[in-house]
Amino acid sequence: MAAEAAAHPCGTCGIGRVVDSTLSVPGVTSLRVVDASAIPTIASGHINACVIMMAEKASDMIRAAVSAPAIQRDELPM
Ligand SMILES: Cc1cc2nc3c(=O)[nH]c(=O)nc-3n(C[C@H](O)[C@H](O)[C@H](O)COP(=O)(O)OP(=O)(O)OC[C@H]3O[C@@H](n4cnc5c(N)ncnc54)[C@H](O)[C@@H]3O)c2cc1C
Repeated sequence: MAAEAAAHPCGTCGIGRVVDSTLSVPGVTSLRVVDASAIPTIASGHINACVIMMAEKASDMIRAAVSAPAIQRDELPM
């Protein structure tokens, strides 16, 4: 499911299909997808705020992964 609605395309690699809940691509290290393409279901309104929210959440997750102890860090998708 993906949408191409003029100024609001989204969902081409949505959470649960291509990326997981941490925005990582399973099997690929050191890569997160943080843009409108990762929106899992088509929103009924403008998506700029959704993208900003995802970016804030992703930066929190990346900071947490980087500051985790080394053993724990190896278990986190980066
Ligand atoms: C005319 C217009 C008006 C809009 N008005 C509104 C509005 O009023 N309110 C609202 O909520 N939303 C609005 N939107 C939608 C909003 O701008 C987008 O939903 C949002 O910017 C999408 O964010 P994104 O990060 O997914 O993509 P983008 O903001 O398009 O960012 C993608 C980035 O990836 C880069 N990139 C592309 N390909 C590659 C590559 N191969 N390698 C490296 N970098 C690459 C691009 O250079 C770009 O910087 C509007 C969109 C348009 C076009």
